[in-house]
Amino acid sequence: APKNDMLGAEGYLRIEAVRKEFDGFVAVDDVSLSIRQGEIFALLGASGCGKSTLLRCLAGFEKPTRGRIVLDGQDITALPPYERPLNMMFQSYALFPHMSVEQNVGFGLRQDGMAKAEIARKVAEMLALVQMEKFARRKPHQLSGGQQQRVALARSLAKGPKLLLLDEPMGALDKKLRSQMQLELVNIVERLGVTCVMVTHDQEEAMTMAHRIAVMDAGWIRQVGSPDEIYEQPSCRFTAEFIGSVNLIEGRILEDENDYVTISSPALAFPAYVGHGVTGFEGQEVALAIRPEKIQVDKDEPAQPHNKVQGIIEDIAYFGSHSVFHVRLPGGTKVLANMINSQRWASEKFTWNDPVWLSWDDQAGVVLTT
Ligand code: ATP
Repeated sequence: APKNDMLGAEGYLRIEAVRKEFDGFVAVDDVSLSIRQGEIFALLGASGCGKSTLLRCLAGFEKPTRGRIVLDGQDITALPPYERPLNMMFQSYALFPHMSVEQNVGFGLRQDGMAKAEIARKVAEMLALVQMEKFARRKPHQLSGGQQQRVALARSLAKGPKLLLLDEPMGALDKKLRSQMQLELVNIVERLGVTCVMVTHDQEEAMTMAHRIAVMDAGWIRQVGSPDEIYEQPSCRFTAEFIGSVNLIEGRILEDENDYVTISSPALAFPAYVGHGVTGFEGQEVALAIRPEKIQVDKDEPAQPHNKVQGIIEDIAYFGSHSVFHVRLPGGTKVLANMINSQRWASEKFTWNDPVWLSWDDQAGVVLTT
């Protein structure tokens, strides 16, 4: 769970209008972000959106075409990677194969000329932190993927970096180990209070690990927010569709009052009411975004006067914990609605080609203008 109240000052890491071009191709398009001390911040986006390039700018492996990077009050934009008070953990872990676990973890400390006894103490502390004390003498090839990742994490944290950069941290792990390691990594990073920027294309990973997420597309930041803000209050169609699944019902604003807006749509027999967070003008073309789990499925017409529509069931897909109803509305619009299978008999009452009522409450929908 996000622990935003534990986080320190805003602007601990400031990315100021950072731009990166490769031969005129804009990979990062004037991105500005302000990251708090102790925050786990995810750059989330599909392949090619520029997230790795931005991370490499933070690490110093790429030089921004323009813009500034300020960490804890220090402008690090022009510093070479080894002079930056940060560390990067790579997807491949990049452990030295000929060195033992303890030699790997102590590598940076030896390079800094730290005294031997001090190094031994620090390495032991780091191995305890990641619960790898028993494996100190092993070589990387004698470790499982999850153990290698723990060692890589211990090595990244040994010098006490101000900033930890994670490049697709779980990329090399299988699904089950991945979710376990996600929680473990968050736990360790939070315990140390290290500020962390991670790159991932996996929305689930960003949602479970990060305090805040920046959704990236074509070098741009489309939205920044906590996992639940991004999911519950997407600001644009791109974010709504990128995170989870969503129904987008195209329509127009009919009336924009202070505390609600009504939307008419060819797909809906009745205007839809949306009870929050809307700004728009009458007649404006918008999309009404509703998550499938916020739509109720019924045989009989619900009593509520609005936010309901009748359709035909085209398919029911069973997912164990829930079933997804594919419903076709009169105009041809397809809508997904989830039904929880805790009472399996409830979904078994329905079959393909049945007419069905869909309904949702005033707080369920979000109006998107872009
Ligand atoms: P992935 O998840 O596939 O790594 P990404 O979102 O991290 O993708 P980047 O690696 O940052 O994306 O790349 C963004 C864009 O910049 C891509 O179109 C890529 O081809 C381009 N790019 C990256 N590095 C270079 C380079 N050294 N020279 C030219 N173009 C580059």
